[in-house]
Amino acid sequence: MSNSFVLVINSGSSSLKFAIIDSVTGDAMVSGLGECFGTPQASMSWKFEGNKTEEAVNTSENHHQYAISRLVDLVEQWGYNDKLVAVGHRIVHGGEKFTSTVRIDQSVLAEIENLADLAPLHNPAGATGIRAAITAFPVLPQFAVFDTAFHQTMPKKAFTGGIAKELYTEYGIRRYGFHGTSHYYVSREAAKMLSKDVNECSFISVHLGNGASVCAINNGNSVDTSMGFTPLAGLMMGTRSGDLDPGIIEFLMKKGWSQEQVFETLNKKSGFLGVSGLTSDARGILEAMENGHEGAKLAFEVFTYRVAKFIGSYLIPLDHLDAIIFTGGIGENSLPIRSEILSNLKLLGFIEDKTANADARFGASGTIATSELLNAVAMVIPTNEEFVIAQQSVELL
Ligand code: ADP
Repeated sequence: MSNSFVLVINSGSSSLKFAIIDSVTGDAMVSGLGECFGTPQASMSWKFEGNKTEEAVNTSENHHQYAISRLVDLVEQWGYNDKLVAVGHRIVHGGEKFTSTVRIDQSVLAEIENLADLAPLHNPAGATGIRAAITAFPVLPQFAVFDTAFHQTMPKKAFTGGIAKELYTEYGIRRYGFHGTSHYYVSREAAKMLSKDVNECSFISVHLGNGASVCAINNGNSVDTSMGFTPLAGLMMGTRSGDLDPGIIEFLMKKGWSQEQVFETLNKKSGFLGVSGLTSDARGILEAMENGHEGAKLAFEVFTYRVAKFIGSYLIPLDHLDAIIFTGGIGENSLPIRSEILSNLKLLGFIEDKTANADARFGASGTIATSELLNAVAMVIPTNEEFVIAQQSVELL
């Protein structure tokens, strides 16, 4: 198939990631990042044919709008002007409305903006990106791929919290889950690697990056996931606490903490960073641990223990298990973290293949452990969310 390149845009509150993806192979022909948008340090950088270019963003115009209009010239310069067939947008929150990828029109755009209540930092940025892209690339069809969509198959018992039902009916408070595009992608890849039909496969997908979540996938569908109403729920992460006793919030506020202080601490000063007192970065944690840093050791232990506990409990919704899948920056690369999680799963019969675990890093997939007890394996699969965005956009064309 020719002419199958998609411009993928991921518009964050102060950043903009972009890439030109071959929708057949998943290869990124160009990938780039705009950072510090809305500040004087705003800049854009990109990699094309192995060369990296960086430029400052000096404009009084809205930086997201500027960056996307700048992409018009760059796309031409890179020679992709006539080769792009669509623009695919990553949108964080699709609420209950969006259960799959959709072509964007005015009503879709309005719905995405309406959902800003549920994702106040992300959805408005996504909508700004869409508007700018419609102006910049008026002839290209635009698609929205939602982080929440894959989890819309969760049964009611999994997405309903043990709270007053009015909170759901009045405010839409329920488990939505995130990282859906990544859990979707790695589960499809895992089924291919196992030579099985994904609709007959059950997995526990473990996405460990700066953000982290576990997803139980039964016969190809998400049936439970650890992130919830917001991405703060579930696992301990780079700077997020993950699940905690909600009573702690009341306690701190009675001690005089403001709502902002509490949530700044839970979102930005907890996790690896908060527990270690050192860094939010898993590599830094591992290095410091080797040098005997007690805080880093504790952060490593809390993180791996909690991941293993979630994996154990996510067996409950499954009728069998084909594989545990590790992905995300940590899941794809960190040998000691994967080893420790697997050793916490001894009771489930997982035996690590140390050589295979050492080999499945830096972009390589592999089977790293086997459980005879469950007739299941543990695998590493590098995620590729941009590929899913490109593929699904082209499928809908
Ligand atoms: P994001 O959620 O922002 O997309 P990533 O999926 O890129 O993040 O994951 C970032 C995390 O992956 C960081 O904690 C980083 O330290 C970790 N990571 C990347 N490479 C390695 C490695 N070789 N060993 C251990 N951790 C790694």
